[in-house]
Amino acid sequence: MKNEEAEVVVVGAGGGGAVLALALAQKGIKTIVLEQAAGPPRGVRGEILQPNGQQVLDRLGLLHKLPAEAIRPVRLFHFCRAGGERLCTVDYGELPPPYNRAVVTLPNVAHHVIIDAIQRQPSVCLWYGTSFVGLLRENERVVGLMAKREGEEVTVKAKIVVGADGAFSRVRQALGIAADVHLYAQGYLIAIIEAPAPMEEAKYFVGKRTILALFPAAGRRVFLLYMIDAGSYDRVKAQGIPSLQRAWTAISPPDEAIFQGLTDWSQTAFLPTGRVRASTWVADGAVLIGDAAHAMNPHASQGRMQAMVDAVTLADLLPECLAANDCSAERLKRFERLRRPQVTMLQRLADEEVFFWNTGNPVIGFLRDRVFKTLDRNARLRYRILATTAGLRTRPPFSVIDRFMAAGFLPDPHAHRRAVQDGG
Ligand SMILES: Cc1cc2nc3c(=O)[nH]c(=O)nc-3n(C[C@H](O)[C@H](O)[C@H](O)COP(=O)(O)OP(=O)(O)OC[C@H]3O[C@@H](n4cnc5c(N)ncnc54)[C@H](O)[C@@H]3O)c2cc1C
Repeated sequence: MKNEEAEVVVVGAGGGGAVLALALAQKGIKTIVLEQAAGPPRGVRGEILQPNGQQVLDRLGLLHKLPAEAIRPVRLFHFCRAGGERLCTVDYGELPPPYNRAVVTLPNVAHHVIIDAIQRQPSVCLWYGTSFVGLLRENERVVGLMAKREGEEVTVKAKIVVGADGAFSRVRQALGIAADVHLYAQGYLIAIIEAPAPMEEAKYFVGKRTILALFPAAGRRVFLLYMIDAGSYDRVKAQGIPSLQRAWTAISPPDEAIFQGLTDWSQTAFLPTGRVRASTWVADGAVLIGDAAHAMNPHASQGRMQAMVDAVTLADLLPECLAANDCSAERLKRFERLRRPQVTMLQRLADEEVFFWNTGNPVIGFLRDRVFKTLDRNARLRYRILATTAGLRTRPPFSVIDRFMAAGFLPDPHAHRRAVQDGG
């Protein structure tokens, strides 16, 4: 058995773990990161970097390193009813510069830039093909972990273990932290398609149990998200590509030519969706970040962004804990206190969106469309939702009265108030 030592050991080099490792390395903190996968991810997955995620990358010195040929800034997002009618348009250009756009990236582009930067840092060791096995404890405190690396057992002693190992976190289980893990009934078929001409603006269609999103990506590519029942990917595939293209064309007839760009299932993948609510994120000598602590429905468009914000927040707090030789739960709780309000608010918002957007109920669908139409006319409420999705708000976007206004049951005397005056 091999024995290693570090100040921090991170389990998982995903969206949160990789950013944490880099942020710690930039502070000169000796860190080991274990990742069970054999190497960086290569599969199909689309990503939207919201303004708060861009801010994190900028702070790490990486935003300008995203390859121009692999990213696409997008300002306008049109929400439409399935069939075509536009309901509401959200303009990221209203946000404070320079992060006044969403950035759609080709699969794993930001992640690869982060991993490249980590591999240039002398104070970080990133071990691929290494799985977390269990925790090392002394007098109830976590003092490291056991892992399996290429078939060989390794122990890593560290002042703190970070569980950044996703929604089904084994670190969370080993810590004995209770968590409510909910799997949603629907997930997403995602596809990257080459369109006949570049698409300029994003479109998001909602209908009876229907969601189809088309996001412009680099060059002529389009990143497509289509809601399907969890467990139905093989059935959808068995029905054939033309059947899927017909379903998409019924939702957005003018985009038929784009849908013809789907020619092979290798352009697609299925992503299940889940939500995690962990009773606590900290223990003596350990902390959870990202999906391990708080996975959320992708309607929030914030899961990865929140994992990144967790990472930089924790990286700012850890140097003091390490210097004081105090990584107790009590001290680490500050991290949780700083991060929980935004995460909880986003989880609730995403679940409300699941209720209204995924619905097959015509009354709920009618209310949803009515809210979209009100938002289209109400600059104040529209900005609130935009700033929330952009990751720039920690408070809920709507008060109880705002909800009545959004549903069109009350007039809003401040509907045209500028967002900045509103404090949104
Ligand atoms: C359809 C869909 C669309 C989404 N769209 C967006 C979006 O537009 N914007 C956004 O911000 N988020 C989005 N998300 C959410 C986002 O993907 C996750 O929230 C994010 O990846 C969480 O990062 P993480 O680091 O916590 O976990 P992960 O990225 O899941 O990383 C966990 C890592 O831990 C590793 N690991 C697990 N167990 C072990 C072990 N025992 N030993 C060693 N390593 C281990 C895994 O291999 C993995 O690399 C979307 C999710 C879905 C499903």
